[in-house]
Amino acid sequence: MKYSLFLVLGNGGGVTFTNSNAIAVLQKYFSNPNNSVGSFFELIKQITSFKTQLEEADINPDGKFKFTDKNANKIIDSIREIKDLYFETESQVGKYLVSERLLDHNGLPATSATVMQQDGTFNIYFATKYIKTNLDFSFGIFHEFGHILNERGMSFSEWTNYIKSPAIFKEEISVWKNLNLPAGDPRSTTAIKFYENLLKKIK
Ligand SMILES: [Zn+2]
Repeated sequence: MKYSLFLVLGNGGGVTFTNSNAIAVLQKYFSNPNNSVGSFFELIKQITSFKTQLEEADINPDGKFKFTDKNANKIIDSIREIKDLYFETESQVGKYLVSERLLDHNGLPATSATVMQQDGTFNIYFATKYIKTNLDFSFGIFHEFGHILNERGMSFSEWTNYIKSPAIFKEEISVWKNLNLPAGDPRSTTAIKFYENLLKKIK
């Protein structure tokens, strides 16, 4: 399957972007979270919120999310941007795992987390205490696929060092700015400020 994305140009004309080209644009933003060009999504002629896309797929955004692979796949399949990222990162995605609560790499409470395995794939953890609805899940899985896109290809030891470095805060800012915010995740602004403050503290 090939998904195509549409790049809007200032003159009103357009260029059809293949999935891989759009992902390449996204990766450029990851490496520079302060990029002034704008977010990945501002370049793409679609700003359909995840809430609307779920509704269009007959999934209640506020419905209770049940932690099964089947439900996860149904949501991945219903939201175009999640499907695009999944298409790109599929071979690096390991298992989906759940726990009541989670702490991230810095010991902070998290709704979801991505952890590299020795074989280079990433397991994705979800906190049942915080991921309550289908919409919560869609923001969470999108966010974690974004991390996988940026972190894949590292060796296990590189990754272990990476998550202890300030670069992980930059990556968080970028994922929140470029993925969650344009997708309509109401937590984005708070999260961006939070990681910006962490970065300031270590400077
Ligand atoms: Zn994150």
